[in-house]
Amino acid sequence: MDPLTVITTSLRGLVSAKNLANGLLERLKKNDIPRDEARMTMIEVLDSIQAAQGALIDAKHAVVAMQERVKELTDAHELLARRREHDSVYWLADQNDKEDGPYCPTCWDLTGKAVRPVYRSANDDGTLLLRCGANHANITFRVAQQMCGFYSKPRVADAAHRPKSWRVE
Ligand SMILES: [Zn+2]
Repeated sequence: MDPLTVITTSLRGLVSAKNLANGLLERLKKNDIPRDEARMTMIEVLDSIQAAQGALIDAKHAVVAMQERVKELTDAHELLARRREHDSVYWLADQNDKEDGPYCPTCWDLTGKAVRPVYRSANDDGTLLLRCGANHANITFRVAQQMCGFYSKPRVADAAHRPKSWRVE
């Protein structure tokens, strides 16, 4: 059941529990309810509250899961809006349209994540040979070295993002 329906049903249950409790209180004030009937009514009130509590806890978990999914989709949407595609790979543009990359198109298409390819070698023609880090079908890319600042100008700040197999020489 969707969380909104659960919340609505639970609120209805709480209102009827409250009405039941108020009715019980009035009869207790007037001292016109047998002790056993009062006890049974109180149990009914508590059962209703407990049922509503359980349903609301489930609804809360469902709402948290929905919020996480919304965040995932929003992040993926924002990443997609920044994506550029050229030279057989993907790039990520910042607010000033400056591109960072390259990113493996196969990994992105399969997982929706921006994954840097792994450096393999520099070629005499001024290109870098890169390969898919997840090794999807041994996919390689040949990209102009001057476009690949991440690989050709290693910085300490990049170390955490650099593929493990890549070594600074
Ligand atoms: Zn890949």
